[in-house]
Amino acid sequence: MKKIQMVDLKGQYEGIKTEVNNSISEILNSSAFINGPHVHAFQKELEDYLGVKHVIPCANGTDALQICMMGLGLQPGDEVITADFTFAATVEVIALLNLTPVLVDVEPDTFNIDVKAIEKAITPRTKAIVPVHLFGQCADMDAIMELAKKHNLYVIEDNAQAIGATYTSKDGTKQKAGTMGHVASTSFFPSKNLGCYGDGGAIFTNDDDLAHTIRGMVNHGMYKRYYHDVVGVNSRLDSIQAAVLRAKLPKLDSYNKKRREAAKKYSEALKGQANIILPKTTNDCDGICDTCDCHVFHQYTLRILNGKRDALVEHLNANDVPCGVYYPVPLHKQKAYLDERYKEEDFGVTNQLINEVISLPMHTELDDEQIQHITNLVINFVKE
Ligand SMILES: *Cc1c(COP(=O)(O)O)cnc(C)c1O
Repeated sequence: MKKIQMVDLKGQYEGIKTEVNNSISEILNSSAFINGPHVHAFQKELEDYLGVKHVIPCANGTDALQICMMGLGLQPGDEVITADFTFAATVEVIALLNLTPVLVDVEPDTFNIDVKAIEKAITPRTKAIVPVHLFGQCADMDAIMELAKKHNLYVIEDNAQAIGATYTSKDGTKQKAGTMGHVASTSFFPSKNLGCYGDGGAIFTNDDDLAHTIRGMVNHGMYKRYYHDVVGVNSRLDSIQAAVLRAKLPKLDSYNKKRREAAKKYSEALKGQANIILPKTTNDCDGICDTCDCHVFHQYTLRILNGKRDALVEHLNANDVPCGVYYPVPLHKQKAYLDERYKEEDFGVTNQLINEVISLPMHTELDDEQIQHITNLVINFVKE
């Protein structure tokens, strides 16, 4: 059996090696390292793929989030509501801009932000909601957009984990993750579903004025060279990363399909176990429908109910099977983000999830033998 990896970037590289190597040597010869032709071409190709009017590439997913908030003109003291159960980047940029983060609980089955908790947290100072499409599946965007409209709030989708996922609205409309809010951010960190070979990110929006503002902001607030109209940042995607992303974008749907197929095999093997809750997909397809891409499985995350999650992590690692705990501490308990206004009873779900979740290896190169090996180890351990 091939050695099992949490993420296998090398195997994926083999499939695009010639194209990537040729593009990189072309860039080295042309010396167009920043904002070269590949960056512009990638921007257009991603706009077409997503069906969104504007893609603005930038240096990473954290910058993308920050620039979204700057572009919307959020001001110190404005409250921004986001999920307690996510990667810290989301709350970090809120705090950096001197906005006030308001963390709320998530749903126990999808791990996504709980809309009822958002509603409860809205105050006259609330300006924006940041739903994170966690682990590859969209938050409840119909309800979030409705709530935002009612209270006149911006919605910033953090789409770092769900690029390529499709959201189906109540009326049957299908839209790509990251194209439904006022603006969205994504990350091309190597391990993301569409990852480059360094850092990278992008912002998406259908709003022409906002797109214009943001295009200047990512490049020192310049709309004309050496004229600085607003305070900006230096956040650019470099040409080499854009070339890698151009080689991968046409394969993104097939990459995501491979992830769904691996998820289906995991779920089929693990179903019926009393101590395991399988990941839920919102389209009732169990993540196994070949034509449905409601979930792109950035992570395949189980809940282990018998208090043996930590022991299972050790057991898998002892058997050379990597796994991850995303996330072991809720944001409201992180030292950097403690706030006396938070009440523990408002975080019942995240406080429970951090002790139960475990993410199994998930990437495009997993084979049947590896999946069977992993699921056998899990089943034999948790049923005892
Ligand atoms: C990865 C990630 C980010 C940050 O992206 P970087 O490119 O690493 O800065 C932000 N939000 C979420 C939910 C992520 O998973």
